[in-house]
Amino acid sequence: VAKRLEQFKTTIFTQMSMLAIKHGAINLGQGFPNFDGPQFVKDAAIEAIQDGKNQYARGYGVPDLNSAVTARFKKDTGLDVDPESEVTVTSGCTEAIAATMLGLINPGDEVILFAPFYDSYQATLSMAGAKIKCITLRPPDFSVPIDELKSLISKNTRAILMNTPHNPTGKMFTREELDAIASLCIENDVLVLSDEVYDKLAFEMEHISIASLPGMYERTVTMNSLGKTFSLTGWKIGWAIAPPHLTWGIRQAHSYLTFATSTPMQFAAGAALRAPDSYYDELKRDYMAKKAILVKGLKDVGFTVYPSSGTYFVIVDHTPFGKENDVAFCEYLIKEVGVVAIPTSVFYLNPDDGKNLVRFTFCKDEETLRSAVIRMKDKL
Ligand code: GLN
Repeated sequence: VAKRLEQFKTTIFTQMSMLAIKHGAINLGQGFPNFDGPQFVKDAAIEAIQDGKNQYARGYGVPDLNSAVTARFKKDTGLDVDPESEVTVTSGCTEAIAATMLGLINPGDEVILFAPFYDSYQATLSMAGAKIKCITLRPPDFSVPIDELKSLISKNTRAILMNTPHNPTGKMFTREELDAIASLCIENDVLVLSDEVYDKLAFEMEHISIASLPGMYERTVTMNSLGKTFSLTGWKIGWAIAPPHLTWGIRQAHSYLTFATSTPMQFAAGAALRAPDSYYDELKRDYMAKKAILVKGLKDVGFTVYPSSGTYFVIVDHTPFGKENDVAFCEYLIKEVGVVAIPTSVFYLNPDDGKNLVRFTFCKDEETLRSAVIRMKDKL
């Protein structure tokens, strides 16, 4: 394997989902719903296939989807952006992230991450040859230590890569935090790469796109996808929204990574994004009910559960159960209890920072969540 990937192992999500199958455990690890996406979106995909929308799409997205993305963005942020020169459709947000790093970051550029961070960030930054600098968000509220961020920014800082609502903690960046980040970026001419795939799973506060703050659009890449919002994580449709001068770099990388994304699925994604607001309200209501079941269950079991404002994840402290670290706890949980969670130490540059914390997801039907809680009550 090439040096740029030498240090990385099989992703934790793959490892844990394989163990779930092997041990017949209930999978509250990898974040994918165990229920299906909406019928009208599936119908739109079938229709597009039957209609012969099956050859290469335009590289940066079928016009219909680019427009649906900008219409949704306008509704969410008030920003008017051009579907032709400011939107790039990618194969999931993971590709948007990779294309953004490879298209905009030079070897040796410094990029600041907030730990715990989604695992692909570190790997794609390594592929881009970036130098990673990291700030740790700490429980109970995982708030941003602004002074630390300030002291980490140097003349070599090219970008801050952020994620709100935040995987794995469920933290949402507050208006004050975003204001502080924005003014540091403007002052120091730094880009913001913002992964907002959980924006529609914002329960305790309103989601704010940092691109919508004064002076920020011109230096921000906003990335999102279809998977979480429409419970279609296997479709791998994502996009990056950025001003034309940044979009150019992203598109150059995208052109030579995947060239284009699945054509019929893009048409279906366009139909999905035009869903009425009631779709989003219902999604949120369903997830709040699921979250309540899991959070109460985990508390009853005896975990310290940290507050999660968004995403379909919650972080708990497992130390009341006496295991030496998160990996040992998760192994025990799979083998002896029959439930899968994600150890968080892989989401830090210093694994010790995550040794007390594990992540559970509640993107499962209520019956599954209840069964997992019963197993933990019986056997932990
Ligand atoms: N984003 C999902 C999670 O955090 C999983 C994605 C993956 O398996 N790579 O659980």
